[in-house]
Amino acid sequence: MKRGAMIRMPARLCPECGYLTDAVSPIGEGKPEAGDLSLCLNCGAPALFTRELKLRELTLEEFKALPANYKRAIRYARAAAHRVVDVDLARRGGRV
Ligand SMILES: [Zn+2]
Repeated sequence: MKRGAMIRMPARLCPECGYLTDAVSPIGEGKPEAGDLSLCLNCGAPALFTRELKLRELTLEEFKALPANYKRAIRYARAAAHRVVDVDLARRGGRV
């Protein structure tokens, strides 16, 4: 499988913003498994895949245990999501 290729998955909701998605673009090989980290395409929030391949929020302890490069990727994803919202608002004259 080509790295970064999109894989269709069961529909699931971001536990933070409720964004509905049914696909992933994995960094590694194959489909995500229970315990793998996911970043929301809409808000950049981190979540973990459950055994049912749904998403749940990380506990504080789980977040603290993430490698530094994962935490950095989360910060970048969150910042990028906020910039997209800012650009969308600017295009609409600041109206929501
Ligand atoms: Zn989200």
